[in-house]
Amino acid sequence: SLALRDVHLAFGRNQVLRGVDLEVARGATACVIGPSGSGKSTLLRTVNRLLEPDRGDVLLDGRSVLRDDPDVLRQRVGMVFQQFNLFPHMSVLRNVTLALRRKRRLGDDEAVAVAREHLDRVGLAAKADARPGQLSGGQQQRVAIARALAMQPEVMLFDEATSALDPELVKGVLALMAELSAQGMTMVVVTHEMGFAREVADTVAFMDAGVVLEAGAPNAIFEAAQHPRLRRFLSQVL
Ligand code: ATP
Ligand code: MG
Repeated sequence: SLALRDVHLAFGRNQVLRGVDLEVARGATACVIGPSGSGKSTLLRTVNRLLEPDRGDVLLDGRSVLRDDPDVLRQRVGMVFQQFNLFPHMSVLRNVTLALRRKRRLGDDEAVAVAREHLDRVGLAAKADARPGQLSGGQQQRVAIARALAMQPEVMLFDEATSALDPELVKGVLALMAELSAQGMTMVVVTHEMGFAREVADTVAFMDAGVVLEAGAPNAIFEAAQHPRLRRFLSQVL
């Protein structure tokens, strides 16, 4: 399981996280929703220690991650961004094998085999030799997901993974994420896709001004929200 406990984080005088609490059971999917600037990306970044909390703790299976080697932690916690961050001058295959060779220390043959297996899993085995620029945005995002999965993470973080995609490409990426969720991956998904949150999430967490103001099962959040601010947010996005 993954847990954030009373996580605080400030950028200078801007107190962005003000005591975030969130629990994600092993194999569960939590969707994080909330207004722009409420701290969703910052929250995700504290989980794989792209940012260090000022106070509070992040626990993976009950153990604080804050003392782990960040490099080792990032193998346990994969992250997918809005911008795919693929290397444009490398083939799709090399984009996936790079971290396998450098971080998981696999030999060339094994790295290629693992990479092909994961490209196959996201339906892109045939694109192994293409450059990222020759793929659609949706295909590039699926490569980024394959690259993260190839590291065999225990947890996957998604930060608005479909927000940069053309509308007709969003569905395929969401379907892949839903499939991962159904296969038992532990996931934290920051998203504007309320349909995805409603159908796929085990827990929906509403962030507002640096705290999780309300969290619960999708039904409780979408049909029976307690906080007026959540109700107002939903009335704007639904
Ligand atoms: P959005 O929905 O627009 O992506 P968000 O909920 O992900 O918003 P964050 O990106 O977490 O919001 O930003 C929360 C606040 O932290 C904002 O006020 C932002 O300006 C500030 N912030 C984020 N990253 C940094 C940084 N690296 N340095 C300084 N301030 C930052
Ligand atoms: Mg964000």
